[in-house]
Amino acid sequence: MTSRDGYQWTEKSGLIKGVPSLGVIQPPTNIKDEQAVYDVIVIGAGYCGLTAARDAALSGLKVLLLEARDRIGGRSWSSNIEGYPFEMGGTWVSWGQPHVWREISRYEMRDQLEISHDYSRGVNYFSLNSSSSSRNMSHDDEDKLMESALKKFANVDGQYGRIIMPFPHSESHNPEAAKFDKMSVADRMAQIKDDLSPDEHTALLGFVLLCSCSTPEKTSFYEYLHWWALCNYSYEYCIEYLIKYKFKGGQSSFAINFFREARATGNLSYAFNTPVATVKDNESDVEVTARDGKTYKAARLISAIPMNILKDVTFSPPLIVGKLEASQTSHVNKCVKVHAEVRDRNLRSWSGITYPNNSLMYAIGDGTTPSGNTHIVAFGGSHNQLQPEKDINKTLSALQAMTPMDIERVVFHNWADDEFARGAWFFSPPGLVTKHLQELRAPQGNIYFANSDWAVGWRSFIDGAIEEGTRAAFAVKKDLDRTRSSHL
Ligand code: FAD
Repeated sequence: MTSRDGYQWTEKSGLIKGVPSLGVIQPPTNIKDEQAVYDVIVIGAGYCGLTAARDAALSGLKVLLLEARDRIGGRSWSSNIEGYPFEMGGTWVSWGQPHVWREISRYEMRDQLEISHDYSRGVNYFSLNSSSSSRNMSHDDEDKLMESALKKFANVDGQYGRIIMPFPHSESHNPEAAKFDKMSVADRMAQIKDDLSPDEHTALLGFVLLCSCSTPEKTSFYEYLHWWALCNYSYEYCIEYLIKYKFKGGQSSFAINFFREARATGNLSYAFNTPVATVKDNESDVEVTARDGKTYKAARLISAIPMNILKDVTFSPPLIVGKLEASQTSHVNKCVKVHAEVRDRNLRSWSGITYPNNSLMYAIGDGTTPSGNTHIVAFGGSHNQLQPEKDINKTLSALQAMTPMDIERVVFHNWADDEFARGAWFFSPPGLVTKHLQELRAPQGNIYFANSDWAVGWRSFIDGAIEEGTRAAFAVKKDLDRTRSSHL
């Protein structure tokens, strides 16, 4: 089945909107009784909403899942182009991410993982292109350069962040850490500029901006320190946890298990292609109106939509000030993720950073397609925003500027312009997390708010989405059990 989301291009076909995916749900709804009143409505079928809907359904609650798109997975979904899973959003997972690993074990998918990198053949080097120099180096030298630069960057306490953020799953454990949320990455770069070689400077910015897909000025240094702490305060674990292990069959082959398990309970109703317009808490129940005018009712509601979208739904009573302010401020990640299927088989072991003079800044050989071509994945952000669907030729040139390549196919999802995400994975501007995290996590009346964007652990990751979906389903079940038993 083909989703409306994403784009694919070949010289022969030109640009086509829509990409086939295992995550598309047909028929799009199973609602039989339009007047039904549910125990809980879940808005959003990303990993957070899928987890919440599944756990609530398993606990015996009658659940309605409403999703704007034609597919599950939200910001994590994969293509199924000629059987090959180009990852359009969230991709890499690891056993260092506890919630995601629990689910991989649950669905027995441990043997469904593969390693993105293959540093064993062909063009086996890393290209570093800055405004002043351009050179290739071995991946061992790349690791040494990165490690040295990232350690200098994170070393705010003489222990590479271990003292300031000793418990990454409770990042404010040491209140001292909050002061780093007043700083941007640009501020931190200014502090250490005399300690960095020109190569370290380019490599560091290339890596840190790959984390935020924004500009140094708009990227919170605190949020970066949180990622670093989650990655065991080391570059080696940044690679291990952030960019190494992915599903052979793609993210949609993982997400579909959540949906199928929820559906098998018999407690799940769902409607895809159903963007929610308003949510009204009547105290006795919650009423949801979709853009098509249809209304749905439940005792409780879990909003599992991203932070940047909260402001686009009308809540009554209105969102508390902190939630609204955070949504209006927005997180800063404007990632455009572009895949190139290239005829150069020898590029499989290549990787590179081109910064700041290109609209794609980081790319790696990520796989081999069924026809034996190399799959390169590249990332761009708002420092030099690319809009691939508006200018495919510019996109092709941006790929060529990373390293010359013979391109057969391009596949992408422009998250910056996606109306149901308005950005890619959460990355905070200075000040937002320490000011608004608790308000973002708070329920309001009968409405619970859950999303990866305000997880406490792997915020911004699939793991954080599952953490939050688990939390919300548990809280709703407890709340309903308590309320209903007090009425007996
Ligand atoms: P979402 O996935 O955003 O789900 C929210 C859902 O709500 C969506 O399906 C949306 O359509 C729906 N929705 C929005 N508005 C409405 C509305 N009005 N009515 C009804 N439905 C609505 N994480 C990793 O762990 N590893 C990675 O390698 C990684 N790489 C990434 C690369 C990219 C390019 C992107 C975009 C993300 C990446 N992430 C990665 C992050 C990860 O994908 C997200 O953190 C996670 O998928 C978010 O899940 P969620 O369920 O919290 O939110």
